[in-house]
Amino acid sequence: MRHAVTLIPGDGVGPEITEATVRALEATGVEFDWDVQQAGENVMAEYGTPLPDHVLASIRRNRVALKGPITTPVGTGFRSVNVALRQELDYYACVRPIKAYPGARNLRDDLDFVVIRENSEDIYAGIEFAQGTADCQRLIAELSALAEKPIRPDSGLSIKPISVSGSRRIVQFAFDYARQNHRRKVTLVHKANIMKHTDGLFLAVGREVAQQNLDIEFEDRIVDNMCMQLVLRPREYDVLCCPNLYGDIISDLGAGMIGGLGLAPGANIGTDGATFEATHGSAPKYAGQNKVNPMALMLSGVLMLRHLREEEAAQALEDAIAAVIREGPVTYDLKERRDDPTAVGTSQVADAVVERLRAGA
Ligand code: NAD
Repeated sequence: MRHAVTLIPGDGVGPEITEATVRALEATGVEFDWDVQQAGENVMAEYGTPLPDHVLASIRRNRVALKGPITTPVGTGFRSVNVALRQELDYYACVRPIKAYPGARNLRDDLDFVVIRENSEDIYAGIEFAQGTADCQRLIAELSALAEKPIRPDSGLSIKPISVSGSRRIVQFAFDYARQNHRRKVTLVHKANIMKHTDGLFLAVGREVAQQNLDIEFEDRIVDNMCMQLVLRPREYDVLCCPNLYGDIISDLGAGMIGGLGLAPGANIGTDGATFEATHGSAPKYAGQNKVNPMALMLSGVLMLRHLREEEAAQALEDAIAAVIREGPVTYDLKERRDDPTAVGTSQVADAVVERLRAGA
């Protein structure tokens, strides 16, 4: 079966790692109809927006996209394309597997857990009031009166909404993900001891949803303890279900534990489709240099193959990437020293992965 997939090369190092990933995906034997769409700074002059409507229409039509990173222009007034995509397509779940492949610069070699981050609410919902503005002053006055607690008049405000419906769908997603991926436990992450009406609500809804998913184990952890536990006893954790901010922090903690951003894949998933992309950004200083590691996007490609129910190809690609991490050649970021002369470039890693796939890893 052929798969129609929207392909967004992005900018910065995006086009190089996307090309490398497409080569690796095609070498699995799965057939794709790539619907190539440009987004980001380089289309702003032509369309007046970094995310033209026809790009969104393509993703809506194909329901699956593979995306390179896109630079967020500073000071132009345009919101981040990455955030806009999540909002427009209601990608409420961000999935970030943290897995240690032997040979990578892992903190320890037994890491295998998945961070599921709620994408649509919490402190990142973008409801903010700048210090000193009339709206902020008004809100400070109203909140101080309502809460019967003074808020310093020179404060800025960021609002943290967490809803029953938003919590219910992300926790249910975590259980469904655990079930589909043969995982045994969901750990809900929160700070309910301090934020009773947001994190506390998230936890209460989580416990309720757990009652309808009794085939999967459920527990909760306070976020600060969670971070320590992940470093000391990561094997005890499997699927972590987090509100937005904690998910953001824990997924980067996880990326550091497996040797950095070069091996950290991701997926943004909604009711109507999914976009697969690396956790890292566009690394503009390395653009066009055939330097950065394409494996984070290739591993996102593995997630995409699983999403497309191409399990055999997904496993073959993951095995090929793992073999190259183990035996080389690899890019500078997987070396002990950044100036290691044996480090190769983006396209040489793609060659090695393709060769492994052809040889059956
Ligand atoms: P970044 O992830 O682009 O780069 C940080 C550093 O990590 C780089 O200097 C590089 O040393 C290293 N790095 C990143 N990817 C690597 C790879 N594949 N191989 C080897 N090393 C790698 O983060 P940044 O510099 O904060 O952001 C640059 C731009 O990317 C910003 O405009 C930001 O908004 C954007 N961004 C986009 C996305 C996305 O498209 N989803 C995500 C994060 C950041």
